[in-house]
Amino acid sequence: MSIHVLFVVLAWLVLLRAVRLASDGAPLDALAPPVCGGCGALGASPCEPCLAVLQRPPPMPPPAGVDALVALLAYEGVGRELVARVKYRNGRAALPWLAAQLAMRVRAAQRRGPPADVVTWAPTTGRRRRRRGFDHAELLARAVAAELGLPCVRLLQRGPGPPQTGASFTERRRRPVLHVPPRARPRAAGRRVLVVDDVCTSGSTLAVAARALRHAGATSVTAAVAARTLGRGLPGRPLKVVIAWTDPTHR
Ligand SMILES: [Zn+2]
Repeated sequence: MSIHVLFVVLAWLVLLRAVRLASDGAPLDALAPPVCGGCGALGASPCEPCLAVLQRPPPMPPPAGVDALVALLAYEGVGRELVARVKYRNGRAALPWLAAQLAMRVRAAQRRGPPADVVTWAPTTGRRRRRRGFDHAELLARAVAAELGLPCVRLLQRGPGPPQTGASFTERRRRPVLHVPPRARPRAAGRRVLVVDDVCTSGSTLAVAARALRHAGATSVTAAVAARTLGRGLPGRPLKVVIAWTDPTHR
């Protein structure tokens, strides 16, 4: 009897492990054929027809506390699909392209503004992270940091943290609550931090991140987002895709 019970328990554990591996995606990703994150067609992500219609957002002043903001795509149409699907495992194929394009624009912007010493991200809520099993903002930040040859460090945490002096009650309720936990402070103090996020809408998340990082002693905060929503009546403009692989010496 006890051997039967042991067998059932072991079989159950093996099944759980298999389900977990499947939900982590690695074996499924390896088996799945590559598809375009913009339209779902088999092949490169983004595919050529999608590349041709991607748009970049018009310039926007950086959110409060952010020294410079780089936004790659307008969060519309194919650009919206491409970025939104990174949040789900089966759409992660576009991540390397997004990271490479974003890193090139960050590098260009850093010639005019403060360069960064360290990359971090605005963490998603714990509930979303648990449901998806990963934080898409972290994935993007790590990929951008690898392209830039910079360390990527978890500096920000969601949670109550210290009181936000100067913020009104309504602001505090509306804003996500981010802070730099004490153990991460030495890695933020005196550093120039680049915050990576997937989508910028009002800029309030980046503003809160900048406030927390400066409170922890960061000397500058810049931000890079894969996409930005367009304001009402503001048209996007054609995206000039930078072809990096033709000149690796510039990387
Ligand atoms: Zn496509």
